[in-house]
Amino acid sequence: MKNWTLQKKWTYSSAISIFLSFLIMSIILYFSIYNWMLISEKKTAQNTLNELVLFFESKGPIITIQDIKRNTTLLNQIVNQEQSVRLMNTDGIEVLRINDASNFPPFSKEFSTDFKRSIIDNQLSFHKVAEIQFGTFIGYVEISHSLDNFSRLMKYILSAMFIFAVISLVLSALIGYTLSSVLLKPLKELRNEMQHAKQSKFSKEVSFQYSKEDEIGELLVIYKQLMNEVSETIKRQDDFIYNISHELRTPVQVVEGHLSLLNRWGKNEKEVLADSLEISLNEIQKMKKLIEEMLKLARSENAKNEVATNIVDVLTTIKKEFVSLNPIVSIDISAVETAVVAVPHTALEQIFRNLIENAIKYNDKTPYIQITATKKQQSIAITLEDNGIGIPPEHLPKVFDRFYTVETSRTKSRGGSGLGLSIVRMLVAEYEGIVEIDSIEGKGTIFQLEFPFVSIFQ
Ligand code: ADP
Repeated sequence: MKNWTLQKKWTYSSAISIFLSFLIMSIILYFSIYNWMLISEKKTAQNTLNELVLFFESKGPIITIQDIKRNTTLLNQIVNQEQSVRLMNTDGIEVLRINDASNFPPFSKEFSTDFKRSIIDNQLSFHKVAEIQFGTFIGYVEISHSLDNFSRLMKYILSAMFIFAVISLVLSALIGYTLSSVLLKPLKELRNEMQHAKQSKFSKEVSFQYSKEDEIGELLVIYKQLMNEVSETIKRQDDFIYNISHELRTPVQVVEGHLSLLNRWGKNEKEVLADSLEISLNEIQKMKKLIEEMLKLARSENAKNEVATNIVDVLTTIKKEFVSLNPIVSIDISAVETAVVAVPHTALEQIFRNLIENAIKYNDKTPYIQITATKKQQSIAITLEDNGIGIPPEHLPKVFDRFYTVETSRTKSRGGSGLGLSIVRMLVAEYEGIVEIDSIEGKGTIFQLEFPFVSIFQ
């Protein structure tokens, strides 16, 4: 039983329960018919007996047995074909017999109010004795009522019921099997989908053919949503790993560069040593902050309402960094005083650093970047415009995809992993912001961002 499939259990249990209820119904029905028919047989026998007594008593005081023997036509009409009647004198000797359809047991003068049942020569019958007196005759009248027809009918009913029981057993097993296979079909589909999901490590999209809106349909919908969430989470984790490695690469390279510099020449040169150590420590601090921020992001445990960063602060710091590295770059910032958004400092820094890096990298002229931050009703809108090489329109919808790079002869040499903008999109989405891009090839690119206000500055 333990190893039985649900379908087998279902088939057997429905077959057994339908069969048992049919059996109980049949037994009740059989005994009701049996009793009802037995009573009606008794009534018929009693009626005949009553009519006979009445008949004999109505014949007047001078009638004799010989007179009756001479004319038995009327008597034969009273006694039906299943019955026999005999008249016995007081000595127990039979003086008259009408019809010979049913056997009599040995005569006994014991009377009973009810009919007695007996089997004589394999024949089941009812019989009853009554005292009788007419004309000069004193004696007994005994009736024997054969139950042959009744037994035959009951046997017929019993075998019909048995045949019906067998048919009902087969039918209920068939119905149970068909019903269970229909009802279990979506569950089998679910099992197969689960196996696929396991084998494909949750990377395949879940789809079901079953589309009814019943309990099983609801279950499948919930499973589909669950699986989508699982694969979304796995994808987010993958993204996180890619993103963090991309963001950590630059500081690691800087530290590596300075350490090898120290290794070669800086050991004895105090100035180089101090400079390199300071830069390396700075980079490590940045990495630490970045890792903390990324971890928070991955666990989605940022209390978003508690962070408040002024865009101008972030932009001023980044501007200084870029300009000191590349003095020909000019970055123009114009922002409202209260441009405070609910995004952590490091995340905002990462977003702008990636965008400004691109604006400089994909640029053949003297890079000029114009950044404005204006206040809208519920948010701060930021535009970042450059005078770079621009992006062909057919590439615009895809530039935010992970690893997507616009491969043209002009961008080939610039080298890029195609992750920068995907990180921007992920961070912007995480802090409930919006980012859009517009570009004209040869003229420049414009990024439009929007972040929600911090409530206290509203
Ligand atoms: P990468 O790390 O390779 O720079 P990104 O995701 O930052 O990748 O950018 C994707 C593609 O979008 C780049 O290959 C580049 O061609 C294009 N792109 C991004 N920003 C700019 C921009 N400011 N001007 C022109 N092209 C850009």
